[in-house]
Amino acid sequence: MALRTVEQYKASLRDGRAVFFRGEKVPDVTTHPVIGLAVEHASIDYRMAEDPQYRDLAVIKDGGSEYSRYFHIPQNGDDLLKRSALIAASTREGATLVVLIKEIGTDALLALHIIGERLAAAGRPEYRERIDKFHRHCRDNDLAVAVAQTDVKGDRSLGPTQQEHPDYYVRVVEERPDGVVVRGAKVHTSVSTNTNEVIVLPTRAMRAEDKAYAIAFAVPMNTPGLKMIASPHGGTKKNAFEHPISARHKMMETLTVFDDVFVPKDRIFLNGEIDFAGLLALTFVRFHRFTAVSYKLPLLELLAGAGYAIAEANGISRAGHVRDKLTHLAAYHTTVRGLIEHAARTCTYEDGVAVPNTLLTNVAKYHFAHNYHQGVQIVQDLAGGLLVTAPAEEDLKSEATREYVLKYMGGAKGFDAEKRLRLLNLISDLTSSDFGGYQEVLAVHAEGGLEAEKLQAYREYDFKTVASYARKLAGV
Ligand SMILES: Cc1cc2nc3c(=O)[nH]c(=O)nc-3n(C[C@H](O)[C@H](O)[C@H](O)COP(=O)(O)OP(=O)(O)OC[C@H]3O[C@@H](n4cnc5c(N)ncnc54)[C@H](O)[C@@H]3O)c2cc1C
Repeated sequence: MALRTVEQYKASLRDGRAVFFRGEKVPDVTTHPVIGLAVEHASIDYRMAEDPQYRDLAVIKDGGSEYSRYFHIPQNGDDLLKRSALIAASTREGATLVVLIKEIGTDALLALHIIGERLAAAGRPEYRERIDKFHRHCRDNDLAVAVAQTDVKGDRSLGPTQQEHPDYYVRVVEERPDGVVVRGAKVHTSVSTNTNEVIVLPTRAMRAEDKAYAIAFAVPMNTPGLKMIASPHGGTKKNAFEHPISARHKMMETLTVFDDVFVPKDRIFLNGEIDFAGLLALTFVRFHRFTAVSYKLPLLELLAGAGYAIAEANGISRAGHVRDKLTHLAAYHTTVRGLIEHAARTCTYEDGVAVPNTLLTNVAKYHFAHNYHQGVQIVQDLAGGLLVTAPAEEDLKSEATREYVLKYMGGAKGFDAEKRLRLLNLISDLTSSDFGGYQEVLAVHAEGGLEAEKLQAYREYDFKTVASYARKLAGV
């Protein structure tokens, strides 16, 4: 068991994987101008494990050996709180962008652990053994692991077998004595360009006719037939003055194609057990939305902090409407934080794993997602229109323009032009750039959309008890 260094992590990504960027195969993801940025961002995880400031939080000491906390199976609310704190701390290091190379993979491992126990109880112990072995492999080699759950899905109103072609959901096309061959594509797969493994999970419940689609497995990223078509979103070259966050931090998503990929038997975690497909999909989400809300906290801190700072710089801090808006941001952040902490403390213990309270997690995620655009609106309102009209870094440097920028871009006492522009650029990057747009779509869709969160909250809320209270008062 050993923790990897940043250099070992980077070296492990030079493995012949098939990543395509704007139609061209990428020879080395670590040196690519866009994907290389995502590799640097992901390196935060390995750097934190070596940093005395974070070591106790990021690393578990187990006898003589050490491993990343992400691979620790939470046993109680305290373990969940520490996991949440680590996710938030690394996202803070990532300037509000989640690192995700271990967070999402271990969400899937925790879900698989529970499903493995249930499959064993149903007479299929081989899956539990494979899952445990894979978990040890990832932990002991300190691996980065992506999760491909979301299928491309075609017509959303139709099931896998009803689609125009049979590959809109990933499926088994051939059973062999030593494994299976899978075909299909997953989409929006985060961090896949720069992880070592990808765990593939079903995205929905399956019916009897969908047996071939009830498949879960893991493969290394350089497996023959696995092709990643990277999204170019946010891939333009940026300077750190105008884009203090996104010039340094990036996450990649891919269309992840399984072009007849062979999966050996010991990497298959579900194959045809339709009753467990939906359960696995939902169990993953129970952990993954807890991760999501944990990594949203630094973003909400920054909305409130940037709103306060720019109000000061603009000299409007004392205005009534400004305090009202800042209070809204403070309440928004505090509500989400309170819900997620309470979700950890009121966890349930299921099949050897502490599971965060599902109702509170979904309400937290929904509250975050439903209110995010309004939070952005408040900060944009306080900042003013310079978010999209301010002079460039070059104007601040050029002899021809510098004196005008310095003379006219200043704000309240103590905020000269450069300081004010730096604050405005931070807010612009966060809310009005392609990165700002990415954060907005991430808020709405990532870890399942708004409707999925509402559905889960509806299912978990105890309507029976409150309705009987209502009926009692009504005399019904
Ligand atoms: C930045 C980003 C990162 C992501 N990372 C990952 C990742 O690492 N791994 C992964 O597996 N996934 C990932 N996702 C996927 C995410 O979970 C999905 O985007 C989300 O589940 C929504 O799916 P979709 O994008 O296909 O949208 P759709 O499902 O097409 O949703 C569009 C609209 O259609 C509605 N809708 C869908 N189906 C139905 C139906 N049957 N009936 C009525 N209405 C319906 C939805 O409610 C929504 O209003 C990521 C997404 C984003 C944006």
